[in-house]
Amino acid sequence: MTATPIALAGIGKIARDQHIPALAADPRWHLAATVSRHAGVEGVDGFTGIDEMLAARPDIGAVSLALPPGPRFAYAAACLRAGRHVMLEKPPGATLAECHALVAMAEAAGVTLYATWHSRMAHAVPAARDWLAQHRLRRVEVAWKEDVRRWHPGQDWIWEAGGLGVFDPGINALSILTAILPVPVHLSAADLWFPENRDTPIAADLTFAHPEGAEVAAVFDWRQEGAQTWTVTAETDAGTMVLSDGGARLAVDGRTLAEGPDREYPGLYARFADLVADGVSDVDLAPMVHVADAFTLGRRRVTDAFVW
Ligand code: NAP
Repeated sequence: MTATPIALAGIGKIARDQHIPALAADPRWHLAATVSRHAGVEGVDGFTGIDEMLAARPDIGAVSLALPPGPRFAYAAACLRAGRHVMLEKPPGATLAECHALVAMAEAAGVTLYATWHSRMAHAVPAARDWLAQHRLRRVEVAWKEDVRRWHPGQDWIWEAGGLGVFDPGINALSILTAILPVPVHLSAADLWFPENRDTPIAADLTFAHPEGAEVAAVFDWRQEGAQTWTVTAETDAGTMVLSDGGARLAVDGRTLAEGPDREYPGLYARFADLVADGVSDVDLAPMVHVADAFTLGRRRVTDAFVW
């Protein structure tokens, strides 16, 4: 098997934790270059600017962008204009319009655009989708509660406009919800809690309208210390399904139906390789629509200042 050269831009927390190990383990990819203003990977051709890399390495046909959503659009646009396949970290952009613009650019260039949702690759997500397809839904409660200091140490971009605040992890929950519900829901109300010294929310309560009347709600909170909660609970006519550990484990009425190791990022790179081979794109903006609606509909509440 010939490995395809790929460049990785944005060598920060998620690149080190997930992208670099996933690429190293995938025989279909070869990490041939990095783009990062301050960091690099030993033994890999390093560039500080995206235009410089695109000009110097015409042999690299694919670029994975692991930088925050704010600066990501300019990088993605440059890569697509240069005729390279592009893989986007979540969320796929700072705005929906940006994402639509990238889709049009990818189509015009005849290349693959892949908007990844790593949580959809969690082990038990397909089993949850299949189980819900067979039963009548009464109630869904999403609880995504984590410690921002543990997962985003010192990252000020998440508190700046466009950084999404608690929707940065919350959109992972929404990516699962939109993948497992048999019929789509839409947001009907939201309360967003903004620290008095920040531009993005630290917590959010969301209520959704379901076409068949099921109650659907989500609670996101970035102030949870100790044990972390990433759970979707669904009550149905055949029992209560709990998808926990961010989608890794599925149980119904306490009986485990599916559980497995974390293979989210290897799954993303395998899918990107398939999309490129098939000459198609995959850009599902459903999770981002809910986030945009929350900022449109959400009541603004002010809470305590946040300091690291
Ligand atoms: P990060 O460490 O703060 O940022 C990644 C890198 O992007 C930085 O090291 C920086 O590298 C580059 N960068 C930051 N701001 C930039 C700018 N204005 N212009 C150009 N480059 C810039 O963030 P992260 O946690 O890895 O998150 C990146 C993306 O991954 C986000 O969309 C996030 O939602 C997603 N993600 C994060 C996690 C997590 O646990 N943290 C999990 C899953 C997904 P240089 O300064 O060296 O250029």
